[in-house]
Amino acid sequence: MPDKPWLRHYPAEVPPTFDYPRHSLAYFLTESARTYPQRAALDFMGKTMTYRKLLEQASRFADALVRHGVRHGDRVALMLPNCPQTVITYFGTLLMGGIVVMTNPMYTPRELEYQLKDAGARTIVTLDLLYRRVSEIAESAELRHIIVTSMKDYMPVPQKWLYPLFARKQGLDRRVVYGNGVYPFRQFVERGSPELRQAEVDAERELALIQYTGGTTGRAKGVMLTHYNLIANTIQSQLWSYRLECGQETYLSALPFFHVFGLTVLLNQSVYLGGTLALLPRFETGLLLETIRRMKPTVFPGAPTMYIALLQRARKPRFNLSSLKLCISGAAPLPLEVQEQFEAISGGRLVEGYGLTEASPITHGNNIWERRKIGSIGIPFPDTDARIVDPQTLEELPVGEVGELAVRGPQVMKGYWNRPEETAAVLKDGWLYTGDMGRMDEDGFFYILDRKKDLIIAGGFNIYPREIEEVLYEHPDVAEAVVAGVHDPYRGETVKAYLVMKQGSEAGAEELNRWCRERLAAYKVPHIYEFRDHLPKTMVGKVLRRKLLEEEAERTEGE
Ligand code: AMP
Repeated sequence: MPDKPWLRHYPAEVPPTFDYPRHSLAYFLTESARTYPQRAALDFMGKTMTYRKLLEQASRFADALVRHGVRHGDRVALMLPNCPQTVITYFGTLLMGGIVVMTNPMYTPRELEYQLKDAGARTIVTLDLLYRRVSEIAESAELRHIIVTSMKDYMPVPQKWLYPLFARKQGLDRRVVYGNGVYPFRQFVERGSPELRQAEVDAERELALIQYTGGTTGRAKGVMLTHYNLIANTIQSQLWSYRLECGQETYLSALPFFHVFGLTVLLNQSVYLGGTLALLPRFETGLLLETIRRMKPTVFPGAPTMYIALLQRARKPRFNLSSLKLCISGAAPLPLEVQEQFEAISGGRLVEGYGLTEASPITHGNNIWERRKIGSIGIPFPDTDARIVDPQTLEELPVGEVGELAVRGPQVMKGYWNRPEETAAVLKDGWLYTGDMGRMDEDGFFYILDRKKDLIIAGGFNIYPREIEEVLYEHPDVAEAVVAGVHDPYRGETVKAYLVMKQGSEAGAEELNRWCRERLAAYKVPHIYEFRDHLPKTMVGKVLRRKLLEEEAERTEGE
């Protein structure tokens, strides 16, 4: 068998290797603004912004940061949904040599505080609707600059689209107290010079992004992605989707940019190709269908739940999805029926890919226009090496055997921010050990079977049981808690908590639900609570999550 059996599936147009430019990631924008100055870079609810204007705004923001004492290498956090301000501040930060730290707008103050402190970010850009949450932790996180924008700043958007995104009452308060390091976004940007001053960076060494991802070993860790990592993964994706044309494509941007999948396959790729980003501040099927009707997008990367939701609504003939030539599903397994039904309705291709934050994120994809295998994550991307190893010995396993997936390529992270031990545990000799269990077939196609780590993926959101367990353990009545993902027909998985309560406790599911809602983003809050007298454990006292899941599977089968 050839060493890399997947190489024979590469179409003639896809080179197996590529010499990636060693520039700042911001060159994607400067190049497209030079080549397509008048083309719409962004569309937000029907209003557009050209590449020239986007570069001007990003340059002003970059200069304003410098004037406020933000230096090359400083971390700038963004807590924003998909909107023009996200794109402006992302490229603006990169232009002046800053490092972007994406945060989730659904974070509670406690979650945000942890991330900002860990990354050492002293500057944040946020929405007026989220300001209360930021201001609560401004002192403890030692924030120096809070730049507050409103949806109205660029293009008006009906507030009703935003409310469910920030479902908490405190998030809906739009009052902002300016002064003392709190600035209105438009004024802040206008203070900067529109002249382009692109910082020189050492692309292979310097970071463009610190992207947080969870782990079973504790709290979320910052993944260090260099300019080179992100440029490489964007170009790898572009080589893969080789029939997409420069200056021609429109990207339906429902995946959030604060997740690295959306960041690479939407934001970076569209700007690299001179495409138009049709921005959706959140995923809502009505809004999505309306944007498809209006913008006729050609590319729609999404999570499986997005295609499921769209299928449920789009059966009616009045919805026309025929503009979509390429849909890329990632982040979680794509059910076969969904893939087939979606392709039948749209007439385009829906292909499955695979990746993880630590790889910027994409490492595998099914051939987009030619051969593919249903149920497989596809073959390694150009310039990407992959193998299945024994998780204990790290020896490569024969074809067909199940082991841990390891990957190597220019998109693999530099390491975890300030965590050398955790970095050493997953990065060895240039190989990234993904923690996902899978196998490779004779043709070089890979399959993911299980997760070594106990990540729960509910509705495309990644949820780490440990974090929820910690919150449950903080409740005075909880003796033991373990959290696992159980099957859910719509969200793929849903969060279930198994609890042993202290003697005499009267707290029930309602009380624990309230407790979790106050401390966790809504998507992490358990949907099911099960109370037990004891939990199954190993000899050393570790709770056997797997045993609970086996019981769960038996119960589902018996129903
Ligand atoms: P993240 O770092 O948030 O991008 O999450 C990465 C994890 O998502 C991977 O380690 C996998 O467990 C899971 N994942 C991503 N794509 C797929 C896929 N196509 N099929 C199954 N699991 C996936």
